[in-house]
Amino acid sequence: MRTLLTGGAGFIGSALVRELLARGGEVLVIDKLTYAGVEASLDEVAAHPGFRFLKADICDAPAMAAAFRDFRPDRVAHLAAETHVDRSIDGPAVFIQTNVVGTQVLLDQALAYWRGLESRARAAFRFLHVSTDEVFGSLGAEGRFDETTPYDPRSPYSASKAASDHLVRAWGQTFGLPVVISNCSNNYGPRQFPEKLIPTLILRALSGQSLPIYGDGLQVRDWLFVEDHARALALMLEAAEPGRTYCVGGDAERTNLQVAGMVCGALDDLRPRDDGAPHRSAIRLVEDRPGHDRRYAVDSAAIRRDLGWRPHVSVESGVARTVAWYLQNEGWWSPVVADSLERRGLIKA
Ligand code: NAD
Repeated sequence: MRTLLTGGAGFIGSALVRELLARGGEVLVIDKLTYAGVEASLDEVAAHPGFRFLKADICDAPAMAAAFRDFRPDRVAHLAAETHVDRSIDGPAVFIQTNVVGTQVLLDQALAYWRGLESRARAAFRFLHVSTDEVFGSLGAEGRFDETTPYDPRSPYSASKAASDHLVRAWGQTFGLPVVISNCSNNYGPRQFPEKLIPTLILRALSGQSLPIYGDGLQVRDWLFVEDHARALALMLEAAEPGRTYCVGGDAERTNLQVAGMVCGALDDLRPRDDGAPHRSAIRLVEDRPGHDRRYAVDSAAIRRDLGWRPHVSVESGVARTVAWYLQNEGWWSPVVADSLERRGLIKA
């Protein structure tokens, strides 16, 4: 199986590349290598005979057309996106360009290519769009998102992802392209760009800085280990019916403060502070993110039932593995850490 995979130099994309190659597939990664694209995330697979890489922008229609023509994929996994909510507050335009326009360009090129396939290949083709649970908005204390939850995005990032989901469904309904959408919860694990919560905490702790937590720290997220997510995506590519949406969650609701506590606990075990104080003593509550969603939780019953998926990694062991990975892989993060630990996304009066 040949997968054209966008955003493969990113956090989840690179995990999916490893998963698909391990399953015996071939992969063409298309990635623009924005600030968030880290080529070193693909070092492990660079020499694999089934792996290819194309540096290109998904908004570049001729480049996408050539990629489809040359690689002749059996399916598409679309992960390329601008992904950091705080950056979407500082500058929404690039989120609309990549997440909305880029998705439309890719859909158009996939459709043109798909129409030229013979009937068996057309039936087997899938366009898997990787989206987020953030399109559903914010939950109260009760309930979980599932495939029937109405859309209610509240940040420029989630609004751009919601728009892209609507485009993907429209290309499925109107043109018959066999699309599948995944709405997943907060991923964490090795190779996540340092600006996201868990790597920010680890890397700031290592350099003796305070550990900032937004607002009261009681925002709840459903934490999904990235390798569990990659396995879910591989299963969707293999077995999801056209037109299906699956919600994917780790069944691990934790507040941001609880996650910070887990990170600090793992650091206390693996890299205690020189002064003997527990790492959690550096936690500081800071001004909240504007429009910060309070709680996300995902009901994954459908993908469990239809595709036999379930998460294998508990959040406790996953966070410990993640902390250990960052401690052992300074060569991965030191070239990209630069200003990514600084605060973004505050609206100035
Ligand atoms: P990431 O920011 O780590 O990686 C994004 C990748 O896309 C980078 O390699 C970047 O260079 C590439 N890219 C950006 N713009 C591009 C363009 N115009 N053309 C080609 N490549 C481009 O993101 P991630 O965390 O791995 O997320 C992957 C996907 O999963 C995204 O679509 C995101 O919305 C979705 N998602 C992420 C999470 C999460 O917790 N990380 C949760 C739910 C959904």
